Amino acid sequence: MTELVGCARWAWNKGLDRCLKLLDSGERIPGQTAITYWVKEFRDNPEHAFLKTSYTDNLQQKLRDLSLAWQRYFDPKLEASRPVFKKKHVDSDNSIRFVNFSKYCKIDNRRVKLPGGLGWCRFRKSRNIAGKIKNCTITRNAGHWFISFQVEQKVEQLAHPSTREVGIDMGVAKFVTLSDGTSIKPLNIYRKYEQRLAKEQRRLAKKVKFSNNWRKQKQRITRLHSKIAHCRNDFLHKASTEISKNHAMIVIEDLRTKNMSRSAKGTIDAPGTNVKAKSGLNKSILDQGWYEFRRQLEYKQAWLGGDVLAVPAHHTSQTCPACDHVSPDNRKTQANFTCVQCGHQDNADRVAAINILARGRRVLACGESSLDDSMKQEPVLPREGLAPSAAIAA
Ligand SMILES: [Zn+2]
Repeated sequence: MTELVGCARWAWNKGLDRCLKLLDSGERIPGQTAITYWVKEFRDNPEHAFLKTSYTDNLQQKLRDLSLAWQRYFDPKLEASRPVFKKKHVDSDNSIRFVNFSKYCKIDNRRVKLPGGLGWCRFRKSRNIAGKIKNCTITRNAGHWFISFQVEQKVEQLAHPSTREVGIDMGVAKFVTLSDGTSIKPLNIYRKYEQRLAKEQRRLAKKVKFSNNWRKQKQRITRLHSKIAHCRNDFLHKASTEISKNHAMIVIEDLRTKNMSRSAKGTIDAPGTNVKAKSGLNKSILDQGWYEFRRQLEYKQAWLGGDVLAVPAHHTSQTCPACDHVSPDNRKTQANFTCVQCGHQDNADRVAAINILARGRRVLACGESSLDDSMKQEPVLPREGLAPSAAIAA
């Protein structure tokens, strides 16, 4: 598997190198089908004799992925970054995909037969495989090998089991606060392991680079990172499943976490302000995975027949839900909201969540134009990226 994965990675890097040269000389990058023809050329070249042990489909899939990565990069609607060279020691860079499963592979309970010289391989079955298997992917992660199957399945579009609506305020002190008053505490898993990671990193720095002890130490750090990622993923999935299954309509703030987490330092022309505080906030945002949380909510709602609606986040924590008065003085402290006009009192995060829900209902009833200009304007961040919600389009 290491060999197959290595050859596939080599094909990606070789293909990427060729693409960059094409771009340099002002030519276009070939499409998905054309790019896969490069594989034959790579394999026929006597200099690349090591590719003899590779599996052609794996290489073709890698080049197909490369072509898709370029398509995303050139799509002005997406903010995708340019494809980069894959590294041997980065887990996410080490995977192979076997397509045409029914023709070339076989599955027998906890064993799978794979082409490319692998034969029958046993795996631990963590869940039942429903539907028809279309392809499978093998990935190396922190010294372990994983297999995942992509299946095709007919899913009947049902009405969402719940009829409730909810507004969600996302914060740093509380991961989310719902408009019904419940909240979820953040996991902050990275913070928990930060010191231990730093200690292990210092140990690594003292070792002779590429020595056996250095490699062992490096592996230890990789495992720790992988543990952090697993904990975070588990937390996000539990939270998004719980919210998704209990609410047909979920209204969230349109926080552009990508912009918010983009360098607090700014550029030379426009140096960032309040760098220290912001980088602290950035760490929390990335740590809590708000972007991933939103992604999970969206696909889980799509599965259940519910909706996710994103509304502008401007002033949600300063507006009084009782009398609509907007003032920064309404929010007395981080936790308390007291309206200076009508005296309405509540928890500040809950007020924000209620306002978000109200804004979502307004958009659904009357379209986006029903929002005041002040709500549409985003104070610091430019409007870009994220596609409008289907609910708005309808
Ligand atoms: Zn009020």
